[in-house]
Amino acid sequence: MGKKRRGRERSVSCANCGRTVPRDKAVEYTKRTHFTTDLKGDDNVTFTGFNTVHYCISCGKHSKIFEKKKEQAKRKREREMYE
Ligand SMILES: [Zn+2]
Repeated sequence: MGKKRRGRERSVSCANCGRTVPRDKAVEYTKRTHFTTDLKGDDNVTFTGFNTVHYCISCGKHSKIFEKKKEQAKRKREREMYE
């Protein structure tokens, strides 16, 4: 592990392959997570939150993140038009 870290360069690790990528080259994707314990009655716990993950360029392409992002942007624009 004799890897030198370069000063100010901040890097993130790819959520898919674990590769370390510079933040400005990483693909950021925010997805909504929904979690439920599926218990009946008052014991049931549901959780909805946003989870931001980073992918390297190749994984971003491979998992079609770019298309999802484009779709998200399109949907957002449409929503703004009708509001
Ligand atoms: Zn990757």
